[in-house]
Amino acid sequence: MSYDESHPAARRRTSRRTLTIALAALVPGAFAGWLIWQATGGSADGGPAGLPAPGASTSATAGAADRPASSGPEPRQSVSKSPSASASKSAPDDDAAPGDARPAPGDGPLAGRIVVIDPGHNPGNFKHTAEINKLVDIGTNRKECDTTGTAGNSGYTEAEFTADVSQRLRTLLRKEGATVKLTHENDRPWGPCVDERAEIGNKAGADAVISIHADGSAAGNRGFHVILPALVKSGGADTSKIVAPSRDLGERVAGKFVRATGSAPSNYLGGGTGLDVRDDLGGLNLSTVPKVFIECGNMRDTKDIALLTSAEWRQKAAQGMADGISSFLNR
Ligand code: ZN
Repeated sequence: MSYDESHPAARRRTSRRTLTIALAALVPGAFAGWLIWQATGGSADGGPAGLPAPGASTSATAGAADRPASSGPEPRQSVSKSPSASASKSAPDDDAAPGDARPAPGDGPLAGRIVVIDPGHNPGNFKHTAEINKLVDIGTNRKECDTTGTAGNSGYTEAEFTADVSQRLRTLLRKEGATVKLTHENDRPWGPCVDERAEIGNKAGADAVISIHADGSAAGNRGFHVILPALVKSGGADTSKIVAPSRDLGERVAGKFVRATGSAPSNYLGGGTGLDVRDDLGGLNLSTVPKVFIECGNMRDTKDIALLTSAEWRQKAAQGMADGISSFLNR
């Protein structure tokens, strides 16, 4: 689900400015994605609603204005030293988990590369409202530790979705030889908070981090988008070194996601680019390594939820992310 904002008006102003900059740089990438979409014959369930034709002007202002005023809460990180936070530190390295066929260390095109996958939210968050509502420092301000995430009308939750796709993605990246770590995986009752999610990627020395989500927007709003870190220098946040590589990572993930899934970029933000830039997400503000978020679709839209609940589609989604990350790491 897209992350909530404590001050919607302030955020909208910032988003509009940053989005304008992003579009100027990223429209060529979206254009390439559109061509890929055309080449693959489009998605099976409709078409690129809202996707501009090549050369069509994209209005950043319109894209930002179309964004719901408040799309609900999101992952919040915690600086707290609560028992749960401590427990997370003892979580096993996901790379050591059994059951995956993968090359021996040193094999594969991604050997020696570290990827951290952040499954958005935690299925247990709804039982721990006090803990996840605790405010944590995200550099620019303080936000909730984490949120419950959204859900489809049938009850399929975003946390369920992100856990599944994260595991699929891990398997794919390991087959390429990467060392992969998840920020959490059935090893804690709630969280981590958003600041801790960022810290896990930082401490791992990750070459790339992806935080996986699905949005909770209005019905009719469709498609995926990748969220890139804005330039932020405030408090403990300094994204100056990761803005450029994160944009590169995000563009590659968006392009490969289009090709793998056949899904169109968001028709409700990003001006058809499938890319957004935000300065209000602790998970990005506090990252010191290249990192992006991906909102894979809108769980509140009947056509999108049909895709999100399909295991076959989720595998394609994971493949698109793996291809994008691999492309970035082999650049
Ligand atoms: Zn989310």
